[in-house]
Amino acid sequence: MTAPSANPATGFGPHTPSAPALALLLDVDGPVASPVTRDVKPEIIADLVALANAGIPVIFNTGRSDAFIREQVMAPMIAAGMPGGTLIHAICEKGAVWFSYTAAGPGPIHVDHELAVPAAYGDDIRRMVAEDYASHMFFDETKRAMVSVEQHIEVPNSEYLAEQKLFDAEALELMERHGFGVVRLEHHAPNSDDEIDYRVDPTIISTDIESVRLGKDLGASRAVELLAAQGITPQAWRTVGDSRTDYAMADWLHHNDHAVKHVDVRPADGVPAKPYNVLTAADLGLPETVIHDDAGAAFLAGWRQALLG
Ligand SMILES: [Mg+2]
Repeated sequence: MTAPSANPATGFGPHTPSAPALALLLDVDGPVASPVTRDVKPEIIADLVALANAGIPVIFNTGRSDAFIREQVMAPMIAAGMPGGTLIHAICEKGAVWFSYTAAGPGPIHVDHELAVPAAYGDDIRRMVAEDYASHMFFDETKRAMVSVEQHIEVPNSEYLAEQKLFDAEALELMERHGFGVVRLEHHAPNSDDEIDYRVDPTIISTDIESVRLGKDLGASRAVELLAAQGITPQAWRTVGDSRTDYAMADWLHHNDHAVKHVDVRPADGVPAKPYNVLTAADLGLPETVIHDDAGAAFLAGWRQALLG
């Protein structure tokens, strides 16, 4: 089997359209990777490879590190037989870090260092986790701009969530001791200049501590830029996520006049009213119990069927 060569104008395969019918902008934890096992089902990998190879831009927009994407998404996609001309973009750490990969592996890693949490604060969090929270969570050493502390897989989620509240309270206090303004959910604690610099963002399996300038909207803007640099303007976007914060992808695209529908694979928090369509597994005729990567897999399979037959 010979891999098709990349079209020099687009970097994609020789048949990649400059205006593909769809582009996919995917949160990873939840819709792609299981929040339980943290890995990706083989059928999801196969559908991602097939869609990307057909010229549908597949772009990840995640809070995860580039190392996580390389291990859990890139390596299995390459192992599944990604053709030579296929280029995948991964926007990591909510827009602070990004890279692209082909069957030959990852290209250079880009880091916006202005968006990084100060190292001294990260060191204090690392020490706090080691001393007081190591039985429930671990410090993610692969992050380059964010500070993330994640639930151990073997700890029951309910026990983790209880411990996470204590951790988050200490992380907030530590921010204030470092003189930074900080926000967590409804709690706002500006610094002495009345500014908010950082956010403590609890997810169902981790706490992310990050610049308030990071977010899924920043990731969406980077996604559009990365495609534009290749001469690609998708006719429409599908954004997929499992958290309220993931709607920021579709919010940004809609606000910037891109056609978009958002897929919520964990609509239990309620589906907010939006000026664009929001889809859930129920729109595929599936029961409400189909969530997370089961719902993600169903949507990917549906797009593969609709676009590739
Ligand atoms: Mg998620």
